[in-house]
Amino acid sequence: MQVAEDAREDSWKHKSFCEELFSGKFNFGLIYPFPEQSQDDKKIGSEHVAKVLKFLEDNLDPLTLEQTREIPPTVIKGLAEMGMFGIKIPKEYGGLGLSQTNYNRIIHAVGSYCASTAVLLSAHQSIGVPQPLKIFGTPEQKKRFLPRLAKGAISAFALTELEVGSDPAQMKTTATLSEDGKHWIINGTKLWCTNGPVAEIIIVMAVTPPKKLPDGREKKQISAFIVESNSPGFSVLYRCDFMGLKGIQNGLLKFDNVKIPRENLLWDEGKGLKLALVTLNTGRLTLPAAVAGGSRVCFEISRTWCKERSQWGGPIGDHESSAARLLVAAGGTYALDAVAKLTSGLADRGQTDIRIEASVAKLFSTGLSWKIIDNTLQLRGGRGYETALSLKGRGEDYYPIEKLMRDSRINSIIEGTSNIQRLFVSREALDRHLRLAGALFNPKASIGEKLTAVVKASGYYAFWYPRLWLNFAFWPRYAWAGGWEGCYLRYVHKMSARLARKMFHAMVLNGPKLEKKQLTLGRIVDTGSNLFVMAAVLSRYMTRKKNGLLNPSEDIVARRVCASLKAATCSSYNKIRIMPGKSPVLSLSKKIMAGELDWLSEDIADVIRLSRAKK
Ligand SMILES: Cc1cc2nc3c(=O)[nH]c(=O)nc-3n(C[C@H](O)[C@H](O)[C@H](O)COP(=O)(O)OP(=O)(O)OC[C@H]3O[C@@H](n4cnc5c(N)ncnc54)[C@H](O)[C@@H]3O)c2cc1C
Repeated sequence: MQVAEDAREDSWKHKSFCEELFSGKFNFGLIYPFPEQSQDDKKIGSEHVAKVLKFLEDNLDPLTLEQTREIPPTVIKGLAEMGMFGIKIPKEYGGLGLSQTNYNRIIHAVGSYCASTAVLLSAHQSIGVPQPLKIFGTPEQKKRFLPRLAKGAISAFALTELEVGSDPAQMKTTATLSEDGKHWIINGTKLWCTNGPVAEIIIVMAVTPPKKLPDGREKKQISAFIVESNSPGFSVLYRCDFMGLKGIQNGLLKFDNVKIPRENLLWDEGKGLKLALVTLNTGRLTLPAAVAGGSRVCFEISRTWCKERSQWGGPIGDHESSAARLLVAAGGTYALDAVAKLTSGLADRGQTDIRIEASVAKLFSTGLSWKIIDNTLQLRGGRGYETALSLKGRGEDYYPIEKLMRDSRINSIIEGTSNIQRLFVSREALDRHLRLAGALFNPKASIGEKLTAVVKASGYYAFWYPRLWLNFAFWPRYAWAGGWEGCYLRYVHKMSARLARKMFHAMVLNGPKLEKKQLTLGRIVDTGSNLFVMAAVLSRYMTRKKNGLLNPSEDIVARRVCASLKAATCSSYNKIRIMPGKSPVLSLSKKIMAGELDWLSEDIADVIRLSRAKK
């Protein structure tokens, strides 16, 4: 736990909309007006989007990829020539130097055509070597590697191991200095490394010798290294195959005394996990953009099918329950777009801390997009379940919704599972309290530390806590925003204060045990996430309205989205349980694991025995 705690960014250099929201302050000014792309930047992005889509349509058949499991080398070469491996790499290093927003638009467009190709580009640029190198590399490292990466030297990010997934601090891969001190020697195995089997350059996280603390204790250190895959001792042990994303190259990698120059250490010794987390803060923005693209595809398929498919005397879109599914696709796409564009825009503007926003965007977007895909598949009925190849074989329109579902399932697992996002967000949301009063709840804190905390905390809470009760959100507050928009702004304002109060009560009542109440924390995070998305939708809608850019019926869609987010907020808020006590969920789960519910497994094949690996 301590290694993970040390790896988080411990200061807030800029304000964060979500951090303030969880603390009971609805600072709409941080996200309104909506950070719209400038017309010039938009034009640049649109040109690249059109070019890459045309290239892919002419050169790549995503359905063939399902069988060959290879993106043809000619396609990779063509993408490299178009600069697609250096989208965000500055021009001085041979990249396109595009904004985060344009990068996300390109990945979104590529993903709407072929998810595996989007993953190739995104694993290279969102989490692969260019991103951490840009942030943490020395000028020499940038000069050495960025031009190669921009030209198309594929890169990858190797963190996960066989025994280590969500808790990377426990990793076993090691890096030790050679006797002459000129090299690092890496030993270990990395699992599920996307692009790993074809990468030229890989960023590898490994345990380096512990740091001696002043009190004599040793602190585990994880560091990040740039590793060339042609180094002796590197090998690909296995190429993995998944339910979807059939074209990605993902594998089990072995590092057997791999010797790399000492100067290939990225950032400082012991900073590897922090580097991974900071990289993911912007890396995570790609997934919301990509799933927004997938949802647009679903919307397009849903509306076409709702119009064209006729049953029981009329188009299925004229039957209310099917129409409701179509609205999920429309409203969901609108919400996903607002979240993806807001977070990318904030990243480009650079005046706010977006670590919580990126995580919330990933958590919310992957959940909602899954629902949209499921609805679209249901609308397509049997054709939704049939593969595109089979539909094509029968001579029918072959919308690849079944493939989209398989390709998308990974989104709530990679780059931190949804459970882990909730824990991460709740930790950050509580940070203000932990910094002020953390010592009060820490049994290991000294009396001096506790007294300091009392003084610090009492001054703050004397103002903060009453403000949460007196924080009126009645009309005419936000009257400037107009009718229904003002109502929803007042709602977010009011709920932000209520959520902060509930979170504070949960902390006071449970003390350090709150960490174990994951369902409570998760519901707090879900409530805050819904409020954030509602604010994003309102900001986008109101900015577009002010600029005279509203599309037909956009007001109806935006209003419906706010209504359903309000319902979701109420639902998660009402489920937050703050009283201390044993968790009935954990008690029953313990019984299940102890074998008390074995009777539930009667009369089935012995799937566990049959599936055990032969050792
Ligand atoms: C297609 C694919 C591509 C990938 N690409 C990469 C890559 O490029 N580089 C890389 O390093 N890794 C990669 N990964 C690994 C991916 O990031 C991990 O799968 C992910 O971090 C989860 O780890 P795990 O699968 O070991 O699950 P585990 O950590 O074993 O978790 C299993 C389940 O337990 C839950 N869980 C775990 N801990 C807790 C907790 N404390 N509280 C509550 N719930 C918990 C999780 O949410 C999950 O539901 C990839 C994986 C896949 C399948």
